[in-house]
Amino acid sequence: MNELELIQNLIPMLPTNSAVVTGAGDDCAVVDVGLPDKHLLLKTDAVVEGIHFTADAVGSAVGHKALGRCLSDVAAMGGVPLCAVVTIGLPSGFEFERVRSIYEGMANLARRYDVAIVGGETTASPERVFISVAVLGTVPKSACILRSGAQPGDAIFVSGTLGGSMAGKHLEFEPRLRQGQWLAARGTVHAMIDLSDGLATDLRHLLDASHVGAELLAEAIPVSEVAKKRARQTSDTKLAPLTAALTEGEDFELLFTVLPSDAVPLLDAWKAEFPELKLSCIGKITAEHGLRIRDRRGTRPLEEHGYIHFE
Ligand SMILES: [Mg+2]
Repeated sequence: MNELELIQNLIPMLPTNSAVVTGAGDDCAVVDVGLPDKHLLLKTDAVVEGIHFTADAVGSAVGHKALGRCLSDVAAMGGVPLCAVVTIGLPSGFEFERVRSIYEGMANLARRYDVAIVGGETTASPERVFISVAVLGTVPKSACILRSGAQPGDAIFVSGTLGGSMAGKHLEFEPRLRQGQWLAARGTVHAMIDLSDGLATDLRHLLDASHVGAELLAEAIPVSEVAKKRARQTSDTKLAPLTAALTEGEDFELLFTVLPSDAVPLLDAWKAEFPELKLSCIGKITAEHGLRIRDRRGTRPLEEHGYIHFE
């Protein structure tokens, strides 16, 4: 059973109540606690040594990643993070300096976005360090963006460049909070998700939630310089630049769909607002289900996990 199947089997068991606006299955849970114009956002995420970071990764970078993953999910709702609680599991014989460095990385990122760290838990862990972060945020009721709002004809956009994150970006990424809030305020964004599992997989999550399909334009997909450079040094087709951009995870960029009439104005406005960060229009939402990709040789279905088989 893979992670997605596990989650799909567990979700029906989860109790709900009248406060739940959107439960499991989006980037954050959305809860109505009776505030006149805002919903609460809730998110939890964990990083585990040996899975999400190596034992020799710099402590502050590990802390940055642990909190940053949650903040990236808040960004994908158009939300504002408020506070976080942190649970850390430590094997016996841990070094205090490393733990201090992990918390320093979290605190530095938290301060930049005015997020308070308001408590948590320390516990023993058999062999490896793990860090679980829960974040509370808010979003204006009228601006909250879900995965499920994409409509046929929407233009699909992605921020930044994709692929090769394991070379370093996965520990150093900047959560796109400013961009998420700016997009939400614009009022033309129909659906949004952050890229944690890879463009192809995360786009499928958005398409499934919205009951639509998509066609991507191969040459419009922004491949990172790291992925391009790596491809020049190997003949492994799984590391081909486009495949890397489609399939490798942990880019933590925003993927979103926009009312088609706002596609061109959005590009201009983005360039003025975020001149340092690339924005690419990579395709369109279709009524026909499934994910397809178009290049010079025609349009083909994109296979599971995004791999493209070249003849
Ligand atoms: Mg997410």
